[in-house]
Amino acid sequence: MNPVNYSRVPIKRYDPDTRIRTLNAPTLIPYTLDEVVAEASRCLGCGLCIQGCPAKIDIPGYQIAVANGDIETGLKINFEKLPFVAVCGNVCPHPCEDNCVLDDNHGSIATRHIKKFIAENIEDYNEVLKVRKNDLGGKAKVAIIGAGPSGLTAAFYLSINGIDVEIFEQTSRGGGMMFHGIPEFRLPRYLLDKEIEHILSYGAKIHYNTKVGRDVQFMDLLNNFDAVYISIGNWKPNRTHVKGEELKGVYHALEFLGRVNQGERIDVGETVAIIGGGFTAFDAARVSLRLGAKKVYVLYRRSKEDRPGYPSSNAEEELEEAEEEKIEFVWEVSPFEYVGENGKVTGIKYWKNKMVDSGSGRREPVPMKDQEFLMKVDTIIEATGQKPDLSFLPNEIMSKLRMTQSGDLIVNQYNMTSYPGIFAGGDITNKRKDIISGVADAGRAAMGILLYLKDKGKIMRVPKRLTNFEQGPYSTTYYEIRDEKIPTVLQITSIQ
Ligand SMILES: Cc1cc2nc3c(=O)[nH]c(=O)nc-3n(C[C@H](O)[C@H](O)[C@H](O)COP(=O)(O)OP(=O)(O)OC[C@H]3O[C@@H](n4cnc5c(N)ncnc54)[C@H](O)[C@@H]3O)c2cc1C
Ligand code: SF4
Repeated sequence: MNPVNYSRVPIKRYDPDTRIRTLNAPTLIPYTLDEVVAEASRCLGCGLCIQGCPAKIDIPGYQIAVANGDIETGLKINFEKLPFVAVCGNVCPHPCEDNCVLDDNHGSIATRHIKKFIAENIEDYNEVLKVRKNDLGGKAKVAIIGAGPSGLTAAFYLSINGIDVEIFEQTSRGGGMMFHGIPEFRLPRYLLDKEIEHILSYGAKIHYNTKVGRDVQFMDLLNNFDAVYISIGNWKPNRTHVKGEELKGVYHALEFLGRVNQGERIDVGETVAIIGGGFTAFDAARVSLRLGAKKVYVLYRRSKEDRPGYPSSNAEEELEEAEEEKIEFVWEVSPFEYVGENGKVTGIKYWKNKMVDSGSGRREPVPMKDQEFLMKVDTIIEATGQKPDLSFLPNEIMSKLRMTQSGDLIVNQYNMTSYPGIFAGGDITNKRKDIISGVADAGRAAMGILLYLKDKGKIMRVPKRLTNFEQGPYSTTYYEIRDEKIPTVLQITSIQ
């Protein structure tokens, strides 16, 4: 084993001028074996990081395993809570790292890069996991709506517990926003496909091109299955409704990224403006560059310090990578008109904002309408968020579901909605709206569904843990929680 070095082992990046030439060249150069062992060996085993992880993965457990060169145990420990180890190893915003006790002095442990190493160096997960199904003494059927990370995670943990799972997915492939939103240069598709295939190998059946509300009715699922898990994500674009939005060359980022991720090469011209400041804005900007734009500007209404996700190591890394690629940021501005010629966009007019203290704890932008600017552009991409489309739910169900003001479903600590037997998770319930939170929801929901099925007499037993893997000597047992019954009083978790 390498001697302990207290400074973080740096992760190297490919040359920005080279990596922007193609849509799929990765940014990061993965750790070598020596590097990953040295990095994992820095871990003190205190467990503070676990509190930062929405899925409560036993992070020190897998670091210590890797420090000892045992990546197979590292994989099993991750799979206790996460069937998307490679996905999260590449794109998780790693909130756990911001909790690391070494963060202030020597650099937090690179938990995400270590996870990436584990997943990318094990070819056949099943050979390592040797999944033993729990015998719950009964049969039950669960319908899952949406094959994004949350739906697929629920499918994994339910199918390895012997439940018959059917997934209804409106598009022609699984992955949700992991495929339609996240670009390939951040998440290689062979890794995504490998993890989806692995999940489905335990028997979950998937109906592609099947939109609930159009091709199959929600009430039929509710009547024909013993429980339903809704994990449809947020697929309805929030538009700015700025004057000129209908001009050719103006897109919402979901449409733009979705089309590019399905293989289309959109002609973006020389200059592109992105409106927004989150994950999606950064991706739209970096994809535009890879489609041949010479200049890409990101226009955001708040200040750099008020951008989504800031402060966090992920937000810093995201900005560093974009700035390395010479993407330019225009902070504190409000676009108010898109101008065009012959129906095609040619420019964007915006005001400069001042940031005022609204008393809410977050400074709010107020446009200074005497400070008007015009930027000439060929393409505008609105990365201004998205919301859920629950229009497939009949009124009799909708009226019984508790929802937040912004339209998210409210769930209890087992991700059951206020309608018994209907569970929900992922972007339609959690606040963070990232993959690991959707995975965490699905883990809680899978346990909640098992408790519910036992209450209904469909199964005889509920396991203590969703998985039955043999673990090596390094795993810890933090955060074992289990109730015998689904609680009758809902403890609302999703709006806290
Ligand atoms: C551009 C972009 C970049 C992102 N980058 C990151 C990142 O780097 N890291 C990170 O952690 N998160 C990232 N996210 C967020 C992350 O992708 C989401 O939080 C996550 O995918 C949500 O998972 P989900 O399962 O709830 O929903 P989704 O992934 O949205 O999946 C929902 C699925 O439901 C299907 N569906 C919807 N309605 C119906 C219906 N009526 N019938 C049948 N099927 C239906 C959809 O087709 C889809 O497959 C990004 C998001 C975007 C848009
Ligand atoms: S907080 Fe840092 S040092 Fe402590 S267990 Fe987690 S990774 Fe290791």
